[in-house]
Amino acid sequence: MSDYKDKYEMVIGLEVHAQLKTNTKIFAREGCEFGRDPNTETSAVTLGMPGVLPVLNKECVNMAILTGLALNSNIPSRCKFDRKQYFYPDLPKGYQISQYDEPICQGGWVQISNKKIGITRAHLEEDAGKLVHAGAAGLYGSSYSLVDLNRAGTPLLEIVSEPDMRSSEEAREYVESLRNILKYIGVCDGNLEEGSMRADANISIRPKGQKEFGTRAEIKNVNSFKALTRALEYEFNRQAELLEEGKEVIQETRLWDDNSGITSSMRGKEDAHDYRYFPEPDLMPLEISKEWVEKIKNSMPELPTQKMERYQKAGLSEYDASVLVNQMDMALYYDKLLSKGADAKTASNFLMGEVAAYLKEEKITIEESKLTVENFVKLLELLKKGTISNNIAKSLVIEILKTGKDAQALVEEKGLSVISDESSILPIIQKILEANPEQVKAYKGGKDKLFGFFVGQAMKETKGRANPQLLNKLLKEELDK
Ligand code: ADP
Ligand code: MG
Repeated sequence: MSDYKDKYEMVIGLEVHAQLKTNTKIFAREGCEFGRDPNTETSAVTLGMPGVLPVLNKECVNMAILTGLALNSNIPSRCKFDRKQYFYPDLPKGYQISQYDEPICQGGWVQISNKKIGITRAHLEEDAGKLVHAGAAGLYGSSYSLVDLNRAGTPLLEIVSEPDMRSSEEAREYVESLRNILKYIGVCDGNLEEGSMRADANISIRPKGQKEFGTRAEIKNVNSFKALTRALEYEFNRQAELLEEGKEVIQETRLWDDNSGITSSMRGKEDAHDYRYFPEPDLMPLEISKEWVEKIKNSMPELPTQKMERYQKAGLSEYDASVLVNQMDMALYYDKLLSKGADAKTASNFLMGEVAAYLKEEKITIEESKLTVENFVKLLELLKKGTISNNIAKSLVIEILKTGKDAQALVEEKGLSVISDESSILPIIQKILEANPEQVKAYKGGKDKLFGFFVGQAMKETKGRANPQLLNKLLKEELDK
């Protein structure tokens, strides 16, 4: 099994459908929010009534341009819409409005850790509705299907990659990077499980060293990162076994079944001419001026790779920076901390340590917690000024996450500030040395390690509040006497 990897190489190209986060549909004015009651978001346009005409939602175009710019694509000055004919029981018009030979975004690339993955194109299209298969299946039984047209007409941007990926890890990394970009620029919420981002994986294999690509299969229904990896690995082995047996891989669409962990043939792959594409007569070609593109370019927020760089410049390791950037809500929160003057490294340590652990345990987001940016910054300042110790700050951040109490008030109320005056610490040290004559003797006899024991005792006595530098200094002086 596994030695197939020595002999064959995977070639992967992905088609990612991103649902655009608009308020209304791409050609109709009703909403497209997920989870509404069936068929409450429909209209004459969506129902395909005679005589109605589609009207393009400008916001979809803005979002497609923004995405294209973030993916380093060219935005041609003209693009157009085409009809794709198909048997769509969940699209009453009987065709899908898509873009065929003149898409809105051409070319581009996405950076993953070791290379750039080419983008072939990205085009706008409408989604289909949803069929719900219900009833018991029987020969003449009561099996039936219901259709929910809420999703019909939801705007999609289909992003097609070049066949540039060579392993399931690279495919995963590509989808992660792409998803991050879409989320940060605010065009898609990137939720694979809810289907607002869907990936079809095209995979072929070829003997190592061979230049020509093999015949590909297209795998549908991969709706998690884990499913993507598993489906690609399964498909690699299936294709390798076929070749080993002297058989051929056929070009087809296969369906991934997450429960059984296998792909099975769904249908032979259609060629473009099967769809009878032709220019959509109900929509004018779309002209996009340089000024329009320029305006959107100027509104581009910071992209994930730029954020990564900025964090690393501020002193974070590459790993820490990537952990933050991969959780957008954390990164945006972290940015607010930085803008209010928090120390980059300390803030990231707290955020990724105590705070992340607490949020995970409670299954809430940072925004849902009671830790406001202002209060967090206050706490970090108390630590920086030396008013409280690191350990106290760590326990306080948990308390604030839970209660939302003011950092300064908590320190005063509980008397948690660091003890930094000699006159308070010295008597404690003397008391401890008197109580442990054996250890003092052993220390003086050369057991240096006992120094830590005395420090521990003093910290226990002061509930962790003794200023460590001062404590060390005074303890040393007393012991050297
Ligand atoms: P279609 O519209 O029929 O799905 P496309 O030309 O749009 O075909 O290609 C779909 C995807 O298949 C692209 O992401 C492309 O990179 C990928 N692809 C094309 N040829 C191969 C191949 N031999 N092996 C793997 N992926 C491929
Ligand atoms: Mg395709």
